[in-house]
Amino acid sequence: MKKRILVCSFHQESNTFNPITWDIDRFGTNREFEGEARLQKSLDGKSAVHGGYTAITEAGGEVVPTVFLHASSGGRVSDQVVNYLCERMAYYCQNEEFDGIYASLHGATCTENEDDACGFFLEILRKLAGDKPIAASFDLHAKITDKILKNADIVCGYQTYPHIDFFETGYRAAKHLMGLLEGKKYRMATMNLPMFVPPAGYTTREEPFKGLLEKAKGMIADGKISDATVFPVQPWLDIPEIMTRVVTIAEDTDQAAACAMELATDLWNAKDDMWPDLKSIDEIIDAAEANTTGKPVLLVDAADSPNGGAVGDSCAVALRLLERGSNLRAGMFIVDPASVELAFRTGVGNKAQFTVGAGFTKGMPGPLKAEGLVRSLHDGWFRQEGKAGRGNPAWLGKTAVVSFGNIYVVLCHRGTASGDPQVLRGFGVDPALCDLVVVKANTSFREPYSYISDLVYFGDTPGAGASNLKEMQWDNLPKGLYPFEEAVFPEKAEIW
Ligand SMILES: [Zn+2]
Repeated sequence: MKKRILVCSFHQESNTFNPITWDIDRFGTNREFEGEARLQKSLDGKSAVHGGYTAITEAGGEVVPTVFLHASSGGRVSDQVVNYLCERMAYYCQNEEFDGIYASLHGATCTENEDDACGFFLEILRKLAGDKPIAASFDLHAKITDKILKNADIVCGYQTYPHIDFFETGYRAAKHLMGLLEGKKYRMATMNLPMFVPPAGYTTREEPFKGLLEKAKGMIADGKISDATVFPVQPWLDIPEIMTRVVTIAEDTDQAAACAMELATDLWNAKDDMWPDLKSIDEIIDAAEANTTGKPVLLVDAADSPNGGAVGDSCAVALRLLERGSNLRAGMFIVDPASVELAFRTGVGNKAQFTVGAGFTKGMPGPLKAEGLVRSLHDGWFRQEGKAGRGNPAWLGKTAVVSFGNIYVVLCHRGTASGDPQVLRGFGVDPALCDLVVVKANTSFREPYSYISDLVYFGDTPGAGASNLKEMQWDNLPKGLYPFEEAVFPEKAEIW
């Protein structure tokens, strides 16, 4: 008899500083979340579900498609979404014969009332599955909680940032699941590190993270362990249970624990080296004013990056430009539905008094109040030009371009694919012809902007995804968390 595996996915990266609730419409407008046709869509690209599917079928198993929910990063997910997911998974568990479950999850997901949405979901799956094995794969920025480890037998995460190993990660998780069904006795060891660092400060392509992962791969190649993931949690979660975690998998629990300890020690020792070099907005404007290369200066406003879960409503740079009376030709987008509506009422070629930005994010400077000239009006659709999503359509909602002196602002309803130059060029604001471009992204902009300019400055900007974590208003974090307080390295690994 073929082993039948229920396969599901639930992906959204939450940022609790984004006040907008992510309702079910953000997971897809046509609500086709289930079944064989939806599975086939996941098999089109190199997704984690595709990797899981491949490992299951290679091991002679059969995939039973269930529920697949994916949304962009943003605010807390509506409870309705998780209730739907759990109800439908209950239906599949009760109506299908199955031997195990593979879930492709993000792991840094909060709902309106649940800080640990993935732990909550896995707890429900555990009740439904009894003692059948459950494997889950996660984003590298996942928040791996005790509840997740208690209810999943296998936990694997991406080993790349920028993330490019979705397929491989799903494959690893499902391969271990099939191993359990064949009688392997995999156990997990974890090190729970009380720390977080800003994602703009590290990549797995460079040290110290690069060497850490090479060491982990060496441990696997030597046969000490069969899998390892380092999870430096995404930090914009103001919740009581948040930590960085190292997870190793092996049949030999002593080896799993020893390797987890070694990797965790290296990461702990490197934590001061994982912070980005930030420049003030004024320093970057100065650089742009002094720039004679003909290329634009890119001010990376990662703090307001919708990819990192921020709203995209910051007008902080535009405000400084106006305050300084700068003549720089600047381009940026700002999420502000009310100003879009005003631009549509005003009409192309006409002027109005605008109040732009700072409409959602708490503590954001602004709004910007100035007379603006409406340049163009759009339905908000554009096609991406960067490698990652080349040709893919993206939608900002109803969109208007309004200029304030030399500052050209793409006003929109939501920020999507915000690291792609087409978010501006698609609406007639060519970044290559600007002196200063505000790029609201963390890393995704690097490849598509590389031929436009190499004058890249990371701004010390405010926002829901700020790298300057100490400047943010925290109310719910645990005690003893690096970088805020004296943090203590754990004495030993835990076995799950
Ligand atoms: Zn991530």
